[in-house]
Amino acid sequence: MPATKKPDSSSSSEVVPIDLNIPDNYVSYTLKNAKPLPPVTLSNLLHEINWISFSVITLTPLLGILGAYHVKLRWETALWSVIYYFCTGLGITAGYHRLWSHRSYNASVPLRVILALFGAGAVQGSIKWWSRGHRAHHRYTDTPLDPYNAHEGFWWAHVGWMLVKPRIRPGVADVSDLRKDKVVRWQHRNYLVLLPSMAFIVPMVVAWVGWGDALGGLVYAGVLRLVFVHHSTFCVNSLAHWLGETPFDDKHTPRDHMITAFVTVGEGYHNFHHQFPMDYRNAIKWYQYDPTKWFIWVASLFGLASHLKVFPSNEINKGVLTMQLKRLRETQEGIEWPSESRDLPVVGWDDFQEQAKSRPLVLISGFIHDVSDFMEEHPGGKHLLVKFIGKDATTAFFGGVYDHSNAAHNLLAMKRVGILHGGHPHASDIKIPSTSLDEKKLVPPSQRLKIAKYSELRPETREIYPNRVKPTYDMSTGGDYGSTTAVESDHDEEEDYKKL
Ligand SMILES: [Zn+2]
Ligand SMILES: [Zn+2]
Repeated sequence: MPATKKPDSSSSSEVVPIDLNIPDNYVSYTLKNAKPLPPVTLSNLLHEINWISFSVITLTPLLGILGAYHVKLRWETALWSVIYYFCTGLGITAGYHRLWSHRSYNASVPLRVILALFGAGAVQGSIKWWSRGHRAHHRYTDTPLDPYNAHEGFWWAHVGWMLVKPRIRPGVADVSDLRKDKVVRWQHRNYLVLLPSMAFIVPMVVAWVGWGDALGGLVYAGVLRLVFVHHSTFCVNSLAHWLGETPFDDKHTPRDHMITAFVTVGEGYHNFHHQFPMDYRNAIKWYQYDPTKWFIWVASLFGLASHLKVFPSNEINKGVLTMQLKRLRETQEGIEWPSESRDLPVVGWDDFQEQAKSRPLVLISGFIHDVSDFMEEHPGGKHLLVKFIGKDATTAFFGGVYDHSNAAHNLLAMKRVGILHGGHPHASDIKIPSTSLDEKKLVPPSQRLKIAKYSELRPETREIYPNRVKPTYDMSTGGDYGSTTAVESDHDEEEDYKKL
């Protein structure tokens, strides 16, 4: 069976989560077997429109503009409109979203009543309906089971999903906990009364009683304020999944951006929010704009809110570091690196001597380098390189004659053409301590913190030097690695694991 089984309601007082018996393959099965409604076209448009939300979303801006054309805006009403925008906005962000959808803090009854009332004034459905959709959005982000799936495009995520009937039923999401909240039940029962009262009558009455501007209150603090609150919330589903950075994770579309935060009463740090949805904050830095967080925090000072949930900063930092490493890895892959020692031929001393007669080969830290293209460039002069052709210049390079810079060491490594068999340090020694001088000589500075993928950390792919036999290899050909006869290591693989 694909979908959830009907919960056992033997005990009527107990609220059973709807997804208690959800099948293991729920998502894949539902996606495979769902029968989406046909795409919306001109011919079926009238039949597919969701007339209630379509009317609310399209008529309010038209009525607002018409009203503004006829009713003069007074400064008191303008100020009241902005205040009421924040009140109803917070009803959604601090109430519907962070309290009821995510349970990111506990709120006292008075605060819950205030948030439920202001939330009703934002005309976005009841708490129960809104939270059910939002929990599905988090649970099935970027899939067809997400009611405002960002992959369907910016405008679909912004308003499209409300203008027409859902093309596919949103994925199951449990809101049984909300049924235990009497404020939620009360708001759901009385929603049709609360909606016009809080959206239009209250803003009108305040302006009327306060400064005698009933019509202005209705037009500006009622209708136009509602249009702004609507699109402010809609931006959390569209703009916040489209604009900005992914500092915490890039698996899905949510993004962080200051502009989104400004237009959504602080919900713009959406990349953080999708990673840590139970955190009462969206912005974690003090200078980031998150008035919803400030509101909840101030409410907690007055005892109206408690148990403000904060995700462990250690885990947050882990996400940040992962993303930083990912970007650094991309930079790293755009840089040319020296040949890996396992890709270099192992050359005996006699071969080294022989080949050094025909081109300038210098031995440093067990690696043989071809410095032909550097003879004229060497800052210390050509004569010092000539002096070490066919010789071991390790001591001279690392301070004996001149303590070369890190950049010089990095450049030197690019000139590797081989490894001296039995040279210094012995190439088969896999137990070189990471802090030892040998490592400093072996590994150029630019590579000591090189980022390795997990798969690259396996012993067989590590930067180790398996036992090799003396080859017969001409380094100048740079080609036939097969003839280097890098043979199987003598080590037992199990043993290597233990050592590493
Ligand atoms: Zn989202
Ligand atoms: Zn959320």
